[in-house]
Order: sequence, then structure tokens, then C-alpha cells
Amino acid sequence: MEGKHYINGEWSTEGDGVIDVRNPATGELFGTVPNGGEAEATKAIEAAEAAFPEWSKTTAYHRAELLMKWHDLLLENKQEVAEILTKEMGKPLAEAIGEIEYSASFISWYAEEGKRVYGHTIPASKDSKRIQIIKQPVGVVVSITPWNFPAAMMARKMAPALAAGCTFVAKPAKLTPLTAVKIYELAEQAGFPKGVINLVTGSAGKIGKVFTSHPAVRKLTFTGSTEIGKELMKQSSETMLNLSLELGGHAPIIVLDDADIDSAVKGVMASKFRNAGQTCVCGNRIYVQESIVDEFSRKLQEAAGKLKVGNGLDEGVEIGPLVDKDGYEKVEKHVQDAVGKGAKVLVGGDGQTANEAYFYNPTILLNANPDMLVMNEETFGPVAPIMSFKTDEEAVKLANDTRFGLAAYFFTESMSRGTYIAENLDYGIVGWNDGLPSAAQAPFGGMKESGIGREGGQEGLEAFLETKYISIQL
Ligand code: NAP
Repeated sequence: MEGKHYINGEWSTEGDGVIDVRNPATGELFGTVPNGGEAEATKAIEAAEAAFPEWSKTTAYHRAELLMKWHDLLLENKQEVAEILTKEMGKPLAEAIGEIEYSASFISWYAEEGKRVYGHTIPASKDSKRIQIIKQPVGVVVSITPWNFPAAMMARKMAPALAAGCTFVAKPAKLTPLTAVKIYELAEQAGFPKGVINLVTGSAGKIGKVFTSHPAVRKLTFTGSTEIGKELMKQSSETMLNLSLELGGHAPIIVLDDADIDSAVKGVMASKFRNAGQTCVCGNRIYVQESIVDEFSRKLQEAAGKLKVGNGLDEGVEIGPLVDKDGYEKVEKHVQDAVGKGAKVLVGGDGQTANEAYFYNPTILLNANPDMLVMNEETFGPVAPIMSFKTDEEAVKLANDTRFGLAAYFFTESMSRGTYIAENLDYGIVGWNDGLPSAAQAPFGGMKESGIGREGGQEGLEAFLETKYISIQL
């Protein structure tokens, strides 16, 4: 597949050669995209700048019609888009189809929500004055997204930005740009006017510098690592960009002794092993109350041991490859470190690497402790370390003992214990007996070093709006 930039309604291949896109399940070349840089990023921003005055004046109803056409096209073509996604990213096809449906759910939700951008009036202190508050689109938006959800992370930004009346420039991850290209082809068919949506592939550093310094850009919305998020925040200080940052996580899962153990195992499996553990909201460390550790870990071991590892295009595969060698080596390092510090491998603990494809087997580690790397950083792989705890207070303390604050999960049948835990976890997203809390209508995002702002829900639309106060002297 040959990908291209989409700038001002035209497909182009400018740039310094091409970037190869490989299938992580086979190591084979799947396609290429142009290696764009400053010139392409600048052109795309200028196209978005030129399109903004007209697009921002269209009605929310008109924008919703276009968004719904795009939504319908995405669902009609979900098999094809999902196959591209699996071929460049590796996740099992069923998960890729799920990601396309999840992406479409954001587009339809924001098509509707864009009609509800309400202002308000406030009683003035003098009879001769009137106070009006209106909401307006922030302007040209630039977006940078990661490889682990190549469709969803873009749709989650693009849909509310377009619904709000902003124009948009996207830069996808170099490992997974072709899903973005396909999604843009469908958006073009839906009929967005030229310049409203633009796509640039290529050098992250060069494109990122233009995104954060071009005076026409008003907002940067980024999903990726905390490290790059901080770098972009520094760069954005010169132009005082409005920022939304969806960054790394290190999610705890707490299983209390009154939990329904079978449901907890199911929830942990969904949270931990989706996308081979390569999600920002993956449970990364599991705290289990000591009286149920044996039963819980035995059941989790059984469930994890049944997962089928392989090429995501093959029938029945539930765990695809890790995205690349670096990802594999990080997982291996975390497991070796944990074993060296006393963890017991219940299942997994190894992988297969051949032909530049890197598969890691679902792994359960028992007797984890806070000194292990796996209990301190995102592993981004199919590894579940279990540590026991005594009291609810201790579990909350352990869970909060991190610089991250994206997602946390816990399992209990008790309303009062659950309320205590939910209210005391320092996390933006909390799943109570729920391993998959993300939904288009709910705000998704992190506290602490997991980021700034929210995507999804009303908050996700607000992120693309400015508040203007108009004081009227009669
Ligand atoms: P990453 O290395 O930070 O890359 C993310 C994006 O930033 C990619 O498009 C990358 O481009 C780009 N980038 C890299 N260096 C840049 C620079 N100097 N200037 C501008 N852009 C730059 O993260 P990743 O490894 O792709 O993704 C995994 C991370 O994303 C994990 O930490 C995960 O937790 C986080 N994540 C967070 C959320 C959330 O909602 N909070 C969701 C998903 C993932 P290239 O690919 O072209 O280098």
C-alpha cells in the first residue's frame, strides 16, 4: 500500500524519500508513506488556516451531516480498514474491527454533541449592562498520535475538533500511518471541503517543531509517551498553544477479598491482555488481598495460558506480536528483573523472535514487590505481576504510589469499600468491576504525569472551544 499526504484536498508524495511500514507479525514490507518534514507541515497548516474562516461559520447541523457520512463510510469499510490496521500494527483482526467501531462511535457522538455548544447569559451588576458568554472554535488544530490505536486516537481528536468548527492537521505514528491514510480517503469521500482536514506523514521531530511554532496553530492535541508530551509542552510555550496531552499510564488493579473472583479474572484479562498489553490503560500491576491470592492467581494463570498467540490475521488469535524489537526488549527486561528480584513465573515468561517479528507469551508473575521495574513503569506487554496486600488503605497507598494517574481498576462487591477506593484513587479513569471503561460519551484522560485535558464526552468537545465573554453597555 502506498500512502500519501493529504494537504488542501490533494494527495501528494513530497518529502525526503519514503518511510517503510512493516508488518510486525511477519517482518515483511507492507507499504510506504512519504517522509515529509517542515515544508509539508507548513503547507498543511496554511491550508487549514485558509479553510478555517468558512468552515467555522458552517452550522453544526451541516458539520454533523458530513461527520455522519464519514461515520457510515468507516463502518461500511471496517473490514478493509481493520485489515490495514492489523497488518501495520499487529493486533488481532477482531480487536482491529472493534477499534474501528469504537472510532466510529466518537464520530457519531460528536456529530450530535456539536449541536449542543451552548453559551449563556449572566445577570449584570448594572441595569445598563448585559453579559453574554459564547463558545467559539479554537482555530487550527494539530494532532500527533501513537501507533497502539492508530484509528481511535485520531478519531477521538478529529471528530470533536471538526464538530466544534476547527480545521485539522494530523501526524500519525511512523509505525502505523497507513490506517490514517485510509481513514482520510473515507473522509475525503464524505465530502469535507479542501483544507478542513489534512494529513502529513514523516519526521516527527521536524513536523513537531513546525506544529509547535507556526503562528497559525492554536491547539496541539497529543497522545503518546509522557517523555515526548513534556518535550512538546516545552516547545509549545513560545506560542502559548492550547494543549491536550494524553500520556502514559501505569494502571493498578486492586482485587478485594469480597470480589466475585471469576468476574475479576475476566476484567483483568480484558484490561491486561487487550492489544497484547500495549495500551495506556492496561492494568500494569495487580494487587490482590492476601486471603484470595492463591485462588485468584490460579484462575488468572489458567485463563492466560489459554490465549492463542500468533499473526493477528489468523483465525482465533488473541495475542498478536509486540510492535517492534524495542517493545519486546522492554518486556523481556521487566520479566528478567522481576524474576531476579524473587517473582515466580506461573505461565509464560518467554517469547518467540524470528524474521523480525516479536511475540511475547502471556505471562503471570507471582510474589511481585515494589522494587521491581514492572511495578514502577509501563511494561507495554502481556505481563501481569501479582502482589498481595492486607488492608484496603494499604492497597490504595500502593496504587497511588506513582507519578502516573491515567486509569485504575478495582473489584469488590461492597458499596462502602468500593466508594472509599474510588474516591481515594488519584486517577482520571476508575473502573469498578469493569476492565474496559472507555466510551465516547465519557471523559477519558489522566491526572499527574499522565496528562492534561480529557477526550470523550462533553469535556472532549470543550477542549476545542474558546470561551468568549461579551460585555454590552446599553
Ligand atoms: P511516543 O514515542 O511518544 O510517540 C507518539 C507520537 O509522538 C508518534 O506520532 C511519534 O511519531 C510522535 N513523536 C515522537 N517524537 C516526537 C517529537 N520529538 N516531536 C513530535 N512528535 C514526536 O509514544 P508511542 O510509543 O508511539 O506510544 C505509546 C505511548 O503512548 C505510551 O506511553 C502510552 O501509554 C501512550 N498512550 C496514551 C494514551 C492516552 O490516552 N493517555 C493512549 C494511547 C497511548 P513517530 O512515531 O513518527 O516517531
